[in-house]
Amino acid sequence: MASQWIVEYLQWLFLLILLLNLAQRRQYETAARKRLATLYIAAGLILFYAVAHLIQLLEASDWWLLPTAAALVFALTRGESALRAFRLSCRSCGARLSLATIVYQDSNLCSNCRFGQPPEAPGPET
Ligand SMILES: [Zn+2]
Repeated sequence: MASQWIVEYLQWLFLLILLLNLAQRRQYETAARKRLATLYIAAGLILFYAVAHLIQLLEASDWWLLPTAAALVFALTRGESALRAFRLSCRSCGARLSLATIVYQDSNLCSNCRFGQPPEAPGPET
């Protein structure tokens, strides 16, 4: 049963996200938005876990997980929220971001763009 699997393993993912949130706390100046995003994601996972647990208790059908998952994905992806705070590529030049930047930098800019030196554009001295 999918709900049983979720009840068993989702807590580890939840713990991982909370640890990530604690790590982001150290980078408060640059990761405030992403820290809030990880909290939202953790809250969503708790909700999903609660529904899976309820399904187990009531011995209901696993199909109830589908509307819950759909609502969760909708809530976490709409607008400027949660999952959209994390980007894999630079917002300015499209270069692949390092893991530290993905997790800790709200700006979603690679180090070149962050310090005002886009790699494509030559500097004024040339
Ligand atoms: Zn860039």
